[in-house]
Amino acid sequence: MEKLYSPATIRKLKEKHDFRFSKSLGQNFLTDENIVNKIAEGAEIGSEDLVIEIGPGMGVLTAAAAEMAAAVIAVEIDSHLIPILRETLSAYKNVTIVNADIMKTDVRDLIAKAKSQSGRAFSGVKIIGNLPYYITTPILMKILEENGHGDGFDSITVMLQKEVAERINAEPGSKAYGALSLAVQYYCTVDMVASVPKEVFMPRPKVDSAVIRLNLRKSAPVKLTSPGDFFAVIKAGFGQRRKTLLNSLTGVCGLEKADIAEILEQVGVAPQRRAETLSLREFADIANQCTAKKE
Ligand code: SAM
Repeated sequence: MEKLYSPATIRKLKEKHDFRFSKSLGQNFLTDENIVNKIAEGAEIGSEDLVIEIGPGMGVLTAAAAEMAAAVIAVEIDSHLIPILRETLSAYKNVTIVNADIMKTDVRDLIAKAKSQSGRAFSGVKIIGNLPYYITTPILMKILEENGHGDGFDSITVMLQKEVAERINAEPGSKAYGALSLAVQYYCTVDMVASVPKEVFMPRPKVDSAVIRLNLRKSAPVKLTSPGDFFAVIKAGFGQRRKTLLNSLTGVCGLEKADIAEILEQVGVAPQRRAETLSLREFADIANQCTAKKE
């Protein structure tokens, strides 16, 4: 098999299998060996690890992961890519190709099945992928929420739009900081692995990309009485970014302005502050007080 990351190989496979890129499935295939290796190495895949890959495409990253891991399960939605993957990955006996929508797949089940079928304990479980950009955030949030702070897997190392990576990694006070930063950081610590220019994809996307690693926290960084109220407070706060907290939070959990004013005073947060300046802990303190007050 010729190098999978070569544009010539991609063209040849396209012709042979009469395959057409689907824009609506976010198909931008990697054509640069360095970037493929950056994702695989950034994921810190060990020889005893199980890897779950989201969207293998023609298998360029799958092959790199298969060289490093004990086993790889690659979940691809596009049935037209399955015969291509069977061809490109035929040399790797440790790869299982699953034709499914990751949004309808319980990753915990995949992991449990892989463990029971192989009859072995893997030393780690790493999720990787060059994510389809039309659905990056829903995929990440689904996998994180499903797992909670459980020990289902260790990390998620993915390529995504640079702007989304910056939002995920943002600190309070920065422009990129928002509901996504807080939601992801509640479950993970974030490492930026690499910036990736649009020239290394076929076809080229409109935006630049980045590789990030999300390291799963084994326990919650803040104690929440009701995670639902925590996310409701965040949503309300950032829903009206320009308003002061006192105004943007009025109505959250069915609470009136006077209640919110009291809560903000109790937790030591000035009512004229704006959501983008609040830390995870401050949001948690406010949410826990909202839960207590509404009951
Ligand atoms: N990993 C390949 C690479 O780097 O060249 C392909 C990456 S491409 C950006 C995204 C891949 O995800 C495509 O193969 C696409 O068909 C697949 N995909 C899109 N939506 C998906 C979904 N909901 N579940 C599983 N795979 C999906």
